[in-house]
Amino acid sequence: MSTIATSTSADLFEVHRTDTPVPDEQRAQALAAPKFGTVFTEHMSRVSYTNEHGWQDRRVEKYGPLQMDPATAVLHYAQEIFEGLKAYRHPDSSVWTFRPHANAARFARSAHRLALPELPEADFLGAIEALVRVDEAWVPSGEETSLYLRPFMYASESFLGVRPSLEAEFLVIASPVGPYFAGGVRPVSIWVDQEYHRAGAGGTGAAKCGGNYAASLLPQQAAYAKGFEQVCFLDASTNTQLEELGGMNVFVVYADGSAATPPVSGSILEGVTRSSIVQLLVDAGHEVSEKALPLDEVRRGLADGSISEVFACGTAAVITPIGRLASDDFDLAVADGDAGPVTSRIRSELTDIQYGRATDRHGWLHRLV
Ligand SMILES: *Cc1c(COP(=O)(O)O)cnc(C)c1O
Repeated sequence: MSTIATSTSADLFEVHRTDTPVPDEQRAQALAAPKFGTVFTEHMSRVSYTNEHGWQDRRVEKYGPLQMDPATAVLHYAQEIFEGLKAYRHPDSSVWTFRPHANAARFARSAHRLALPELPEADFLGAIEALVRVDEAWVPSGEETSLYLRPFMYASESFLGVRPSLEAEFLVIASPVGPYFAGGVRPVSIWVDQEYHRAGAGGTGAAKCGGNYAASLLPQQAAYAKGFEQVCFLDASTNTQLEELGGMNVFVVYADGSAATPPVSGSILEGVTRSSIVQLLVDAGHEVSEKALPLDEVRRGLADGSISEVFACGTAAVITPIGRLASDDFDLAVADGDAGPVTSRIRSELTDIQYGRATDRHGWLHRLV
């Protein structure tokens, strides 16, 4: 079922290799224990857009600083979108990524919402393939390590007028990452924010844009100061329903084995991990509903034991068990503060597929090298 790279424009990317390659020894050191998002590979993919000529100048070039006019639109009006996916090294040394068509499609939807030009799927995949081919030596092979890929697009026209930019730049950068949980998967504590929201009806919550993250940072900082690791946001219209964390979707598991996650309304980001987990839960015989999760119901369910597990999910951490859920007026332990059995099992099933240890029965993997 797995697909070999075809019908992408990887071959259209002109490769300009760095003339100062990193020595093997230095790369090995950088790959030893990389902290998330701190180490980058030697190259980046790039495609430029102008209204007049469309997408052009596909290339892989040396990783390095971008030159920008101070009037560049993105610096003023935040017209920017991004994606996040990973390249995984399999036991036979081949390199694969996970459901990249879903990321390409979401990237196009995000572009539409931010009035940026839509990038063809072939260029999205081509840019990733071309980069990973050139920087293959940077794909780590240790347990739960990967090469994190960060495609992004920004409004690059120098113009202070308020209208969609007539120029854009698309880039992919890559960063080797170690296991998200050094020393084993550990449940996190979550502050349910009843004051701030990350997104509202009609806003940009369903788009993966930097602006949503900017809106989440102050509440995140406040939660951190209270001793919590992450924030869960409520819907902005009624302030009563769990939506998602700043960068992860959320699931609850009931004592009867069923599970639920909020539906992707306009203010929730449709996670690729989220939809994969829905499928794996269904495969394993769990009843899964996409339904509103009123905070009151979740509080009651945790208090009376009818909710047995809560977890968050996203590409970076895969699945993060939630061990504590609290706010101004409650403080509840989840699954006795441990990772629950369903959470742990689904996490293993998903990572086994990603790392080539289990059959890819849904055709989710896409070969890069
Ligand atoms: C990226 C992101 C997610 C997770 O999406 P994945 O495709 O699973 O990585 C969830 N919520 C928000 C707000 C995000 O930006």
